[in-house]
Amino acid sequence: MLLKEADLSLLNGLRIKATTASFFQLKNIQDLKEVVSEANDKKLEIFPIGLGTNIVWGTKNIDKAVIQIALSGYEVVEKKDYSLIKIGSGENWDKCVEKSVKNDLSGIEALSSIPGNAGTTPVQNVGAYGSEISNALEEVQIFDLVTGEFKNLSNRDCKFGYRDSVFKKNLKGKAIITSITLRLSKKPPSIPRYVDVETYFTKMKIKTPDLAQIRQAIQEIRASKLPDPKLIPNCGSFFKNPIVTKDEANKIKTVFPNMPYYENVNGVKISAGWLIDTIGLKGKRFGTIEIYNKNALVLVATEKKAKIEDLIAAKNYIIKKIREDFGITLETEPDIIY
Ligand code: NAP
Repeated sequence: MLLKEADLSLLNGLRIKATTASFFQLKNIQDLKEVVSEANDKKLEIFPIGLGTNIVWGTKNIDKAVIQIALSGYEVVEKKDYSLIKIGSGENWDKCVEKSVKNDLSGIEALSSIPGNAGTTPVQNVGAYGSEISNALEEVQIFDLVTGEFKNLSNRDCKFGYRDSVFKKNLKGKAIITSITLRLSKKPPSIPRYVDVETYFTKMKIKTPDLAQIRQAIQEIRASKLPDPKLIPNCGSFFKNPIVTKDEANKIKTVFPNMPYYENVNGVKISAGWLIDTIGLKGKRFGTIEIYNKNALVLVATEKKAKIEDLIAAKNYIIKKIREDFGITLETEPDIIY
């Protein structure tokens, strides 16, 4: 019997109290088939997690086989202009970024300081400052829960989109990511074209920053705007930035000429944080939850842990107000698990 009872309160960004009767921490890949078959015998849905940084437990008793993927591994294959790095799903993501920067490999430096493990990055195609994991991802090894076999998915197979992938759609609940392989370049990095980063380097009078300087900039900018999850529980951006049509965006812009406006192939991306801030919700409290007073896109626990009822109240209130005031329906970024 591998599945055991466990407290999940520390395995979710907002530290919402929850337990499960069936938990297993997977450190050896050899145990995977056994734990999956045990869950199948018990007719339990299999729910793989990393550190739970982007998860919200929606109920006190999680009636699923929660398998924490804690597989280690960091193998490098050198090529002329790039390196291929196969990383076990349980490796800490930021440590992987740190290593790549130390080894002069570019491609993920803008993804510095993102909490969580490497194996969960492809799920929502983690992104920051114009970089997405999909830009550096060569392949993903999965355990297919339908066939019971391991297989490799190419970057194309992952069907990456904006904060989206096949793991949120067709493969949801059907695959466990066991490792990811990155292709990192030996060429000099490009500077993220985001105002905060450009302002940082202008102030520092650095024209062509190296990898370590870019990582340092991102670390400092994030630390100044985002709460440290070790000190203030949170699960990062709580809402996705909505993408609307040009017409819809222009309508809002006539009323709010200062609205940031990012055109892309799918339409116009609007900052969800800006929408929430603009209607004065920054700092608003809902019991144990606060719309973070330094960044309206983040919901934080006001005490050491949050109550799910307060989170749902905050979420529903924000969605309702933004719909009433801008005609836009926000979608949450973290998964709420029942
Ligand atoms: P910000 O600079 O205040 O900008 C607000 C939003 O506008 C961002 O979310 C960003 O979209 C978009 N944006 C800004 N400059 C842009 C540009 N030059 N081109 C296209 N889009 C632009 O954002 P922030 O809150 O400090 O976050 C900075 C970066 O870190 C963002 O990329 C954000 O996604 C990322 N981040 C992610 C999480 C998470 O939990 N997933 C948490 C914190 C920050 P994009 O989000 O599409 O980049």
